[in-house]
Amino acid sequence: MAVSFVGVTKRFADGTIALDGLDLEFELGEFVVLLGPSGSGKTTACRLLAGLETPTEGRIEVDGKDITTLPPRFRGIGMVFQNYALYSHKSVYENIAYPLRIRKTAAAELDRRVKEVAELLQIGSYLHRRPGQLSGGQAQRVAVARALVWEPTICLMDEPLSNLDALLRLHMRTELNRLHQRLNKTFVFVTHDQEEAMTLASRIAVLKDGKLVQFDDPRTIYRRPANRFVAEFMGRPAMNTMDGMVRDGTFRAGQVSCKVQCPEGPVTLGIRPEQIGFGQSGDGDHFTMTLDVKETVEPDALLIFANDKGTVTVRTQRDCDELRPGQPVNLHFPLDALHYFDATTGERLR
Ligand code: ATP
Repeated sequence: MAVSFVGVTKRFADGTIALDGLDLEFELGEFVVLLGPSGSGKTTACRLLAGLETPTEGRIEVDGKDITTLPPRFRGIGMVFQNYALYSHKSVYENIAYPLRIRKTAAAELDRRVKEVAELLQIGSYLHRRPGQLSGGQAQRVAVARALVWEPTICLMDEPLSNLDALLRLHMRTELNRLHQRLNKTFVFVTHDQEEAMTLASRIAVLKDGKLVQFDDPRTIYRRPANRFVAEFMGRPAMNTMDGMVRDGTFRAGQVSCKVQCPEGPVTLGIRPEQIGFGQSGDGDHFTMTLDVKETVEPDALLIFANDKGTVTVRTQRDCDELRPGQPVNLHFPLDALHYFDATTGERLR
């Protein structure tokens, strides 16, 4: 019971390669998030799965059946678009009922299903309104209701929360999580917001330049990024990465110096801002850097240190009131917090 992209390439008429040999397989029932920078191919992957585009090469299978050329209406896939694409001249009720009407669902059954899904999404009291009379959050719920009402196997959502304000976005995120748990359907969700991906996904597919760079659960993506790109893309503030040299078990890059467990020679070292120790010295593995900027993001402080090889950012909950820019500070990179990447390819070393 799986959805598979097998070597899927999509080349548009103008020569743009939106997907480049994508191999991706997930189970039905998962909450899969497609994450990646703008232009990485997320929307194209969704449109191919929905049947709105056809691949130039490769195939797409659902449950072992090749659906590559199957028309959209036979695919069992519901879709929520970024702009919701609601029919402005129809009532909320008719918008939700639309997929059932085109499937010629009997009137009583149609009415029952529309009301049931409206109840689930808490929009039961707006059924008589038109889309123009709804708030952003309400319109978003209507779009989700319309995608789910005919009980598709897979629900695709292309940046459905991006038009909502920050607070509503958080609220709808929780709602979508709840909905997924309740319905146990396959959700495929597109976003370029890594926090959204982290909170929603059972697994995150990170795309870059039309290729899959990592497909793992959020915890693994965060703790064991497959390469420098994923490491820097996931987490705010971003993971510190620095190019340096390892000699006699010690990494050096400008003022940075720490014990490492990786091959000798050039390496890209990574450490998350929240895992850097500072203040104490004594165990011989500290180095000194000059504080450049201090920012407070309650309850944390962000300390940014200048280095001739770039900056090092520390995120801490320790009291930093006494710290002033220009002051020297002892820093410590714990051995178990270090990530090692190939200095040339950026791939994770261990
Ligand atoms: P965003 O986060 O900005 O929505 P995305 O990851 O969803 O980006 P896609 O929309 O899939 O990316 O686009 C991937 C690449 O394909 C981009 O370079 C885009 O410009 C290009 N592209 C998309 N649709 C077409 C098209 N119809 N014709 C030509 N190029 C296209």
